[in-house]
Amino acid sequence: MKEEGAMQITGTTKNLGVMGWPIAHSLSPIIQNAAIAAAGLDYVYMALPVEPEDLEAAVIGLRVSHFRGFNVTIPHKQNILHCLEEVDEDAAIIGAVNTVAIDEDFLITGYNTDVTGFLMGLEEKAFDPRGKNVVILGAGGAAHAVLWGLVKRGAARVTLAVRNPEKAQKVVAHFAPHVTETELRVVDWTASAYRGVLSAADLLVNTTPLGMLPKLDGMPPVDWEALRNEALVYDVIYTPAETRLLREAREHGHDIQNGETMLVGQGAASFELWTGVKPDFEVMRKALRQALEERNKKRPLAAFCIS
Ligand code: NAP
Repeated sequence: MKEEGAMQITGTTKNLGVMGWPIAHSLSPIIQNAAIAAAGLDYVYMALPVEPEDLEAAVIGLRVSHFRGFNVTIPHKQNILHCLEEVDEDAAIIGAVNTVAIDEDFLITGYNTDVTGFLMGLEEKAFDPRGKNVVILGAGGAAHAVLWGLVKRGAARVTLAVRNPEKAQKVVAHFAPHVTETELRVVDWTASAYRGVLSAADLLVNTTPLGMLPKLDGMPPVDWEALRNEALVYDVIYTPAETRLLREAREHGHDIQNGETMLVGQGAASFELWTGVKPDFEVMRKALRQALEERNKKRPLAAFCIS
Protein backbone atom coordinates (compact mmCIF):
# COMPACT_ATOMS: atom_id res chain seq x y z
CA MET A 1 0.00 0.00 0.00
CA LYS A 2 1.25 3.46 -0.87
CA GLU A 3 0.48 6.89 0.48
CA GLU A 4 -3.13 7.82 -0.40
CA GLY A 5 -3.35 9.76 -3.66
CA ALA A 6 0.23 8.95 -4.70
CA MET A 7 0.87 6.89 -7.82
CA GLN A 8 4.29 5.65 -8.79
CA ILE A 9 5.01 3.05 -11.45
CA THR A 10 7.88 0.72 -10.53
CA GLY A 11 9.15 -2.74 -11.46
CA THR A 12 6.57 -4.36 -9.18
CA THR A 13 3.55 -2.41 -10.42
CA LYS A 14 0.76 -4.68 -11.66
CA ASN A 15 -0.70 -3.96 -15.08
CA LEU A 16 -4.34 -3.45 -16.05
CA GLY A 17 -5.88 -1.88 -19.15
CA VAL A 18 -8.69 -1.51 -21.63
CA MET A 19 -8.51 -3.28 -24.98
CA GLY A 20 -10.37 -1.88 -27.98
CA TRP A 21 -10.03 -0.40 -31.47
CA PRO A 22 -10.05 2.55 -31.58
CA ILE A 23 -9.31 3.20 -27.92
CA ALA A 24 -7.80 6.69 -27.64
CA HIS A 25 -11.21 8.14 -26.69
CA SER A 26 -11.62 5.85 -23.67
CA LEU A 27 -12.12 7.49 -20.30
CA SER A 28 -11.53 4.24 -18.42
CA PRO A 29 -7.81 4.95 -17.79
CA ILE A 30 -8.76 8.20 -16.04
CA ILE A 31 -11.49 6.59 -13.94
CA GLN A 32 -9.53 3.47 -13.02
CA ASN A 33 -6.25 5.24 -12.25
CA ALA A 34 -8.16 7.64 -9.98
CA ALA A 35 -9.53 4.61 -8.10
CA ILE A 36 -6.08 2.98 -7.93
CA ALA A 37 -4.53 6.15 -6.52
CA ALA A 38 -7.31 6.61 -3.97
CA ALA A 39 -6.93 2.99 -2.81
CA GLY A 40 -3.13 3.34 -2.64
CA LEU A 41 -2.63 0.17 -4.68
CA ASP A 42 0.42 -0.72 -6.79
CA TYR A 43 -1.42 -1.04 -10.10
CA VAL A 44 -1.54 0.98 -13.31
CA TYR A 45 -4.28 0.98 -15.96
CA MET A 46 -3.58 1.84 -19.60
CA ALA A 47 -5.21 1.99 -23.02
CA LEU A 48 -4.46 -1.08 -25.17
CA PRO A 49 -5.08 -0.44 -28.88
CA VAL A 50 -5.69 -3.85 -30.48
CA GLU A 51 -6.95 -4.31 -34.02
CA PRO A 52 -9.57 -7.04 -34.59
CA GLU A 53 -7.20 -9.45 -36.37
CA ASP A 54 -4.68 -9.20 -33.50
CA LEU A 55 -7.10 -10.06 -30.70
CA GLU A 56 -5.88 -13.58 -29.97
CA ALA A 57 -2.20 -12.61 -30.07
CA ALA A 58 -2.90 -9.64 -27.80
CA VAL A 59 -4.69 -11.79 -25.22
CA ILE A 60 -1.80 -14.28 -25.17
CA GLY A 61 0.66 -11.39 -24.91
CA LEU A 62 -1.10 -9.81 -21.93
CA ARG A 63 -1.38 -13.16 -20.22
CA VAL A 64 2.32 -14.03 -20.50
CA SER A 65 3.23 -10.45 -19.53
CA HIS A 66 1.56 -11.00 -16.14
CA PHE A 67 -1.27 -8.52 -16.69
CA ARG A 68 -3.80 -8.93 -13.88
CA GLY A 69 -6.73 -8.09 -16.11
CA PHE A 70 -8.29 -5.74 -18.59
CA ASN A 71 -11.55 -4.30 -19.81
CA VAL A 72 -12.77 -5.16 -23.29
CA THR A 73 -14.66 -2.81 -25.54
CA ILE A 74 -15.77 -2.42 -29.15
CA PRO A 75 -15.10 -4.37 -31.36
CA HIS A 76 -13.86 -7.25 -29.16
CA LYS A 77 -16.66 -7.87 -26.65
CA GLN A 78 -18.06 -10.93 -28.42
CA ASN A 79 -14.98 -12.29 -30.19
CA ILE A 80 -12.91 -12.45 -27.01
CA LEU A 81 -15.15 -15.24 -25.72
CA HIS A 82 -13.15 -17.67 -27.89
CA CYS A 83 -9.84 -16.59 -26.31
CA LEU A 84 -10.82 -17.33 -22.69
CA GLU A 85 -10.54 -20.44 -20.53
CA GLU A 86 -13.40 -19.60 -18.21
CA VAL A 87 -16.44 -17.41 -18.75
CA ASP A 88 -18.72 -16.47 -15.89
CA GLU A 89 -22.40 -17.28 -16.24
CA ASP A 90 -23.68 -13.74 -16.94
CA ALA A 91 -21.10 -13.15 -19.69
CA ALA A 92 -21.75 -16.58 -21.23
CA ILE A 93 -25.51 -16.03 -21.36
CA ILE A 94 -25.27 -12.45 -22.61
CA GLY A 95 -22.62 -13.52 -25.13
CA ALA A 96 -20.32 -10.58 -24.39
CA VAL A 97 -17.37 -9.93 -22.07
CA ASN A 98 -16.33 -6.49 -20.82
CA THR A 99 -13.88 -7.60 -18.13
CA VAL A 100 -11.10 -10.18 -18.12
CA ALA A 101 -9.28 -11.26 -14.97
CA ILE A 102 -6.01 -13.21 -15.01
CA ASP A 103 -5.08 -15.01 -11.80
CA GLU A 104 -1.67 -15.99 -10.41
CA ASP A 105 -1.83 -19.32 -12.25
CA PHE A 106 -2.57 -17.48 -15.53
CA LEU A 107 -6.17 -18.70 -15.54
CA ILE A 108 -8.02 -16.21 -17.74
CA THR A 109 -11.71 -15.59 -16.99
CA GLY A 110 -14.27 -13.35 -18.71
CA TYR A 111 -17.04 -11.41 -16.95
CA ASN A 112 -19.76 -8.95 -17.86
CA THR A 113 -19.95 -6.15 -15.29
CA ASP A 114 -22.39 -4.03 -17.36
CA VAL A 115 -25.14 -6.04 -15.65
CA THR A 116 -23.84 -5.03 -12.21
CA GLY A 117 -23.51 -1.41 -13.30
CA PHE A 118 -27.06 -1.28 -14.65
CA LEU A 119 -28.48 -2.81 -11.47
CA MET A 120 -26.52 -0.31 -9.35
CA GLY A 121 -28.32 2.47 -11.21
CA LEU A 122 -31.65 0.89 -10.23
CA GLU A 123 -30.59 0.39 -6.61
CA GLU A 124 -29.61 4.05 -6.39
CA LYS A 125 -33.24 4.83 -7.26
CA ALA A 126 -34.55 2.19 -4.81
CA PHE A 127 -36.19 0.38 -7.72
CA ASP A 128 -36.59 -3.37 -7.18
CA PRO A 129 -37.35 -5.11 -10.53
CA ARG A 130 -39.01 -8.14 -8.85
CA GLY A 131 -42.49 -8.63 -10.31
CA LYS A 132 -42.23 -5.43 -12.37
CA ASN A 133 -43.17 -4.65 -15.93
CA VAL A 134 -40.30 -3.14 -17.92
CA VAL A 135 -39.97 -1.63 -21.40
CA ILE A 136 -36.50 -1.54 -22.96
CA LEU A 137 -36.02 0.77 -25.93
CA GLY A 138 -33.53 -0.87 -28.33
CA ALA A 139 -32.14 -4.39 -28.61
CA GLY A 140 -28.36 -3.99 -29.07
CA GLY A 141 -25.38 -4.71 -26.80
CA ALA A 142 -26.50 -2.55 -23.86
CA ALA A 143 -30.04 -4.00 -24.09
CA HIS A 144 -28.61 -7.53 -23.67
CA ALA A 145 -27.00 -6.58 -20.33
CA VAL A 146 -30.08 -4.63 -19.20
CA LEU A 147 -32.47 -7.46 -20.12
CA TRP A 148 -30.37 -10.05 -18.33
CA GLY A 149 -30.08 -7.87 -15.21
CA LEU A 150 -33.87 -7.55 -15.09
CA VAL A 151 -34.37 -11.29 -15.62
CA LYS A 152 -31.88 -12.05 -12.82
CA ARG A 153 -33.77 -9.73 -10.48
CA GLY A 154 -37.11 -11.40 -11.25
CA ALA A 155 -38.90 -8.87 -13.47
CA ALA A 156 -42.35 -10.18 -14.43
CA ARG A 157 -42.29 -8.94 -18.00
CA VAL A 158 -39.67 -7.30 -20.24
CA THR A 159 -40.72 -5.87 -23.61
CA LEU A 160 -38.20 -4.76 -26.21
CA ALA A 161 -39.66 -1.73 -27.99
CA VAL A 162 -37.74 -1.25 -31.23
CA ARG A 163 -37.72 -0.01 -34.80
CA ASN A 164 -36.68 -3.45 -36.07
CA PRO A 165 -38.85 -6.19 -34.44
CA GLU A 166 -37.24 -9.03 -36.40
CA LYS A 167 -33.84 -8.29 -34.88
CA ALA A 168 -35.37 -7.99 -31.41
CA GLN A 169 -37.14 -11.35 -31.79
CA LYS A 170 -33.70 -12.91 -32.30
CA VAL A 171 -32.58 -11.35 -29.03
CA VAL A 172 -35.60 -12.83 -27.25
CA ALA A 173 -34.89 -16.24 -28.83
CA HIS A 174 -31.27 -15.96 -27.64
CA PHE A 175 -32.31 -15.45 -24.00
CA ALA A 176 -35.40 -17.70 -23.96
CA PRO A 177 -33.60 -20.92 -22.90
CA HIS A 178 -32.28 -19.14 -19.77
CA VAL A 179 -35.50 -17.46 -18.70
CA THR A 180 -38.15 -19.07 -16.53
CA GLU A 181 -39.92 -16.37 -14.48
CA THR A 182 -39.87 -13.42 -16.89
CA GLU A 183 -42.11 -13.03 -19.91
CA LEU A 184 -40.12 -11.61 -22.84
CA ARG A 185 -41.91 -9.70 -25.60
CA VAL A 186 -41.20 -7.47 -28.58
CA VAL A 187 -43.20 -4.50 -29.83
CA ASP A 188 -42.69 -2.30 -32.87
CA TRP A 189 -42.51 1.23 -31.44
CA THR A 190 -44.40 2.59 -34.45
CA ALA A 191 -47.35 0.18 -33.87
CA SER A 192 -50.50 1.15 -31.96
CA ALA A 193 -49.85 -1.70 -29.47
CA TYR A 194 -46.83 0.24 -28.15
CA ARG A 195 -49.15 2.63 -26.28
CA GLY A 196 -50.68 -0.23 -24.30
CA VAL A 197 -47.25 -1.63 -23.50
CA LEU A 198 -46.11 1.76 -22.19
CA SER A 199 -49.23 2.19 -20.06
CA ALA A 200 -48.40 -1.01 -18.15
CA ALA A 201 -44.72 -0.15 -17.54
CA ASP A 202 -43.11 0.41 -14.12
CA LEU A 203 -39.75 1.15 -15.71
CA LEU A 204 -38.71 2.48 -19.13
CA VAL A 205 -35.04 2.02 -20.12
CA ASN A 206 -33.47 3.62 -23.17
CA THR A 207 -30.60 1.57 -24.60
CA THR A 208 -30.53 3.24 -28.02
CA PRO A 209 -27.93 5.94 -28.73
CA LEU A 210 -30.74 8.39 -29.52
CA GLY A 211 -30.10 11.49 -27.43
CA MET A 212 -26.36 10.93 -27.14
CA LEU A 213 -24.07 13.70 -28.31
CA PRO A 214 -24.05 14.95 -31.05
CA LYS A 215 -27.68 13.88 -31.65
CA LEU A 216 -28.78 16.14 -28.82
CA ASP A 217 -32.36 16.50 -29.92
CA GLY A 218 -33.07 12.90 -30.79
CA MET A 219 -35.09 10.56 -28.61
CA PRO A 220 -36.98 7.32 -29.08
CA PRO A 221 -40.76 7.69 -29.39
CA VAL A 222 -42.56 7.87 -26.02
CA ASP A 223 -46.22 8.76 -25.45
CA TRP A 224 -46.02 10.57 -22.12
CA GLU A 225 -49.80 10.43 -21.73
CA ALA A 226 -49.61 6.62 -21.76
CA LEU A 227 -46.73 6.19 -19.31
CA ARG A 228 -47.86 6.25 -15.67
CA ASN A 229 -46.34 9.01 -13.50
CA GLU A 230 -44.86 6.43 -11.10
CA ALA A 231 -42.77 4.84 -13.85
CA LEU A 232 -39.01 5.36 -13.49
CA VAL A 233 -37.29 6.49 -16.71
CA TYR A 234 -33.67 5.28 -17.06
CA ASP A 235 -31.40 6.30 -19.94
CA VAL A 236 -28.11 4.36 -20.17
CA ILE A 237 -26.59 7.34 -21.99
CA TYR A 238 -24.29 9.32 -19.66
CA THR A 239 -23.48 12.26 -21.89
CA PRO A 240 -25.29 14.56 -21.88
CA ALA A 241 -26.20 13.91 -18.24
CA GLU A 242 -29.80 14.73 -19.10
CA THR A 243 -30.87 13.56 -22.53
CA ARG A 244 -34.02 14.91 -24.15
CA LEU A 245 -35.80 11.71 -23.05
CA LEU A 246 -34.85 12.35 -19.42
CA ARG A 247 -35.71 16.04 -19.61
CA GLU A 248 -39.16 15.30 -20.98
CA ALA A 249 -39.64 12.51 -18.43
CA ARG A 250 -38.73 14.89 -15.58
CA GLU A 251 -41.08 17.53 -16.97
CA HIS A 252 -43.84 14.91 -16.97
CA GLY A 253 -43.23 14.15 -13.31
CA HIS A 254 -41.16 10.94 -13.61
CA ASP A 255 -38.21 10.00 -11.47
CA ILE A 256 -35.18 9.68 -13.77
CA GLN A 257 -31.80 7.96 -13.87
CA ASN A 258 -28.96 8.45 -16.37
CA GLY A 259 -26.12 6.11 -17.39
CA GLU A 260 -23.43 7.57 -15.13
CA THR A 261 -23.88 5.12 -12.25
CA MET A 262 -24.03 2.21 -14.70
CA LEU A 263 -20.76 3.31 -16.27
CA VAL A 264 -18.93 3.91 -13.01
CA GLY A 265 -20.54 0.79 -11.54
CA GLN A 266 -19.26 -1.52 -14.27
CA GLY A 267 -15.77 -0.06 -13.79
CA ALA A 268 -15.98 -0.43 -10.00
CA ALA A 269 -17.05 -4.07 -10.35
CA SER A 270 -14.11 -4.74 -12.71
CA PHE A 271 -11.72 -3.07 -10.26
CA GLU A 272 -12.92 -5.34 -7.46
CA LEU A 273 -12.51 -8.45 -9.62
CA TRP A 274 -8.88 -7.56 -10.34
CA THR A 275 -7.73 -6.24 -6.98
CA GLY A 276 -10.13 -7.74 -4.44
CA VAL A 277 -10.62 -4.20 -3.12
CA LYS A 278 -13.87 -2.22 -3.29
CA PRO A 279 -12.91 1.07 -4.96
CA ASP A 280 -14.06 4.51 -3.83
CA PHE A 281 -17.12 4.91 -6.09
CA GLU A 282 -17.36 8.66 -5.58
CA VAL A 283 -13.69 9.16 -6.56
CA MET A 284 -14.40 7.31 -9.81
CA ARG A 285 -17.58 9.32 -10.43
CA LYS A 286 -15.73 12.59 -9.82
CA ALA A 287 -12.90 11.58 -12.20
CA LEU A 288 -15.47 10.76 -14.91
CA ARG A 289 -17.29 14.08 -14.48
CA GLN A 290 -14.04 16.04 -14.60
CA ALA A 291 -12.88 14.20 -17.72
CA LEU A 292 -16.22 14.78 -19.46
CA GLU A 293 -16.19 18.44 -18.50
CA GLU A 294 -12.67 18.85 -19.92
CA ARG A 295 -13.68 17.04 -23.10
CA ASN A 296 -16.82 19.07 -23.57
CA LYS A 297 -14.82 22.28 -23.20
CA LYS A 298 -12.58 21.16 -26.06
CA ARG A 299 -15.19 19.49 -28.29
CA PRO A 300 -18.67 20.57 -27.21
CA LEU A 301 -20.49 18.43 -29.75
CA ALA A 302 -18.21 15.42 -29.81
CA ALA A 303 -19.57 11.90 -29.60
CA PHE A 304 -17.53 9.45 -27.60
CA CYS A 305 -17.87 6.10 -26.01
CA ILE A 306 -16.31 4.45 -23.03
CA SER A 307 -15.20 1.29 -21.39
P1 NAP B 1 -25.77 -1.10 -30.29
O1 NAP B 1 -25.34 -2.48 -29.93
O2 NAP B 1 -25.37 -0.53 -31.59
O3 NAP B 1 -27.40 -1.07 -30.17
C1 NAP B 1 -28.10 0.09 -30.40
C2 NAP B 1 -29.60 -0.18 -30.43
O4 NAP B 1 -30.25 1.06 -30.68
C3 NAP B 1 -30.06 -1.14 -31.52
O5 NAP B 1 -31.23 -1.80 -31.09
C4 NAP B 1 -30.37 -0.19 -32.67
O6 NAP B 1 -31.39 -0.65 -33.54
C5 NAP B 1 -30.94 1.00 -31.93
N1 NAP B 1 -30.70 2.23 -32.70
C6 NAP B 1 -29.53 2.74 -33.07
N2 NAP B 1 -29.69 3.88 -33.77
C7 NAP B 1 -31.03 4.06 -33.85
C8 NAP B 1 -31.85 5.05 -34.46
N3 NAP B 1 -31.32 6.07 -35.13
N4 NAP B 1 -33.19 4.93 -34.34
C9 NAP B 1 -33.73 3.89 -33.68
N5 NAP B 1 -33.01 2.91 -33.08
C10 NAP B 1 -31.67 3.01 -33.18
O7 NAP B 1 -25.26 -0.06 -29.20
P2 NAP B 1 -25.01 -0.34 -27.64
O8 NAP B 1 -23.63 -0.82 -27.45
O9 NAP B 1 -26.14 -1.12 -27.13
O10 NAP B 1 -25.04 1.17 -27.06
C11 NAP B 1 -26.23 1.91 -27.06
C12 NAP B 1 -26.09 3.13 -26.13
O11 NAP B 1 -25.86 2.69 -24.80
C13 NAP B 1 -24.92 4.05 -26.49
O12 NAP B 1 -25.36 5.37 -26.34
C14 NAP B 1 -23.88 3.72 -25.43
O13 NAP B 1 -23.03 4.81 -25.15
C15 NAP B 1 -24.77 3.40 -24.25
N6 NAP B 1 -24.13 2.52 -23.27
C16 NAP B 1 -23.97 2.99 -22.00
C17 NAP B 1 -23.38 2.18 -21.06
C18 NAP B 1 -23.16 2.69 -19.67
O14 NAP B 1 -22.38 2.09 -18.94
N7 NAP B 1 -23.83 3.74 -19.25
C19 NAP B 1 -22.96 0.88 -21.39
C20 NAP B 1 -23.16 0.42 -22.71
C21 NAP B 1 -23.75 1.25 -23.65
P3 NAP B 1 -31.05 -1.45 -34.90
O15 NAP B 1 -30.63 -2.81 -34.45
O16 NAP B 1 -32.33 -1.40 -35.63
O17 NAP B 1 -29.94 -0.70 -35.56
